Amino acid sequence: MDSTTRRGIGMTSERTRRRLVQRLREGGIQDERVLEVIGGTPRHLFVDEALASRAYDDTALPIGHGQTISQPFVVACMTEALIRDGSPDRVLEVGTGSGYQAAVLAPLVGSVYTVERVRALADQARRRLSQLGYRNVHVRHCDGGEGWPEKAPFDAIILTAAPSHLPDALLEQLQEGGRLVAPVGQPGEAQRLEVLEKRSDGLVRQILTDVSFVPMLGGTS
Ligand code: SAH
Repeated sequence: MDSTTRRGIGMTSERTRRRLVQRLREGGIQDERVLEVIGGTPRHLFVDEALASRAYDDTALPIGHGQTISQPFVVACMTEALIRDGSPDRVLEVGTGSGYQAAVLAPLVGSVYTVERVRALADQARRRLSQLGYRNVHVRHCDGGEGWPEKAPFDAIILTAAPSHLPDALLEQLQEGGRLVAPVGQPGEAQRLEVLEKRSDGLVRQILTDVSFVPMLGGTS
């Protein structure tokens, strides 16, 4: 038995995953597409082996480099907001981290372009997503504040690190009619989960809830 198979035992049982889905449903997630994908995504393969037994708890977990894989409820909530009006073709994610949010988006959209400022995390996520067979996810090591201009415009943009203000470059790379979902706030303070729609006459902003994300940092490492 190889180590991937071994660490799958127990944590990945139907029952464990169903319990997480049930919890998300009770928390208010209604989109069946999102619930189904979360129930089918092997979150235990996106965290360190030592944490695998907690992978289907509804909590954020450390992924090294001072970063975390987001809480499943928050992933579900942001994914639901992003695909509310259909299924966007091209999606930009800022903050690849473990690659889990990208993996949840992959079956629901055309392509995911995801950027990460920490090289080691970007390399690990690229390897992991490729091994797991996600062919429509593309990972780039760069400062996400600049977006991914060569691949723009995007039908949807999701940030999984919190800027104090949304960078102009990201708003410019959002297609008209497109949607951006992001935690916004000063480091150390409560952040608001914002949904922005880019309309011909300007941006329409909706605030969903308070969240707690790692800060979006400038530059790369
Ligand atoms: N979506 C991730 C969550 C990772 S936490 C997951 O599912 O696991 C947020 C990530 O954003 C961290 O990995 C952090 O390094 C990254 N990050 C912070 N500022 C960034 C920036 N300016 N550009 C790209 N990535 C950034």
